[in-house]
Amino acid sequence: MSQGQSQVTIFQKRISAQLADLWALNQESAYPMVVAKLYFTYSAMNAGKSAILLQAAHNYRERGMRVMLWTSHHHGDGAGAEIGRIESRIGLKAPANLFRPGQDLLATIKADADREPLDAVFIDEAQFLTTEQVRQMARVCDDLSIPVLCYGLRTDFKGALFEGAGELLAIADDLREVRTLCHCGRKATMNLRVDETGKPARDGSQIAVDKGGYVSLCRHHWREAMADETPDLIE
Ligand SMILES: [Zn+2]
Repeated sequence: MSQGQSQVTIFQKRISAQLADLWALNQESAYPMVVAKLYFTYSAMNAGKSAILLQAAHNYRERGMRVMLWTSHHHGDGAGAEIGRIESRIGLKAPANLFRPGQDLLATIKADADREPLDAVFIDEAQFLTTEQVRQMARVCDDLSIPVLCYGLRTDFKGALFEGAGELLAIADDLREVRTLCHCGRKATMNLRVDETGKPARDGSQIAVDKGGYVSLCRHHWREAMADETPDLIE
């Protein structure tokens, strides 16, 4: 290969690498420098949401951007802790601020952004945000022009919307679903809570964050496990 040709090849490789980078960035953040949006990425349990969040946050940091990470106070070390961590089942983890019901997240994020420019806010376990806090996240986008990327569950083990998920589904600019599969091969959209013996839980509080106690199922198999007495119309 001549000198000229190899330089063209190197140039082409660089361009395609840059395009791949842009594509990857847009997959997660869709033009973060142009317009700040509120994103909600949802799925059933164990779909790898936290890993996707940490990878996306890493992409921002790699580009020299500053990000702020949040997760629910259920992931802190005891009552009153301010810092906890986002942890994925494949071993990725990062420290994160903890949010609790009633906390003014807008004020905290604004104070942080006033100290030093902030390029994005990432929120794990976003289903645990209150309606008011989701509204605050919309203001982080609209008033502070900082994109907010929320990751969380859509429904609880009884098939009811979480408060934060409901409000995000209502007002987020961009909704994405991370797919995971039921044992039958269909898309898993429901979360079955099981006890240590594998027996399904039909009652109990909405919040229990032990990931080991959940099975992701399609609606059909979730209904079956929850012993829905309504007969199937189609066998
Ligand atoms: Zn199934």
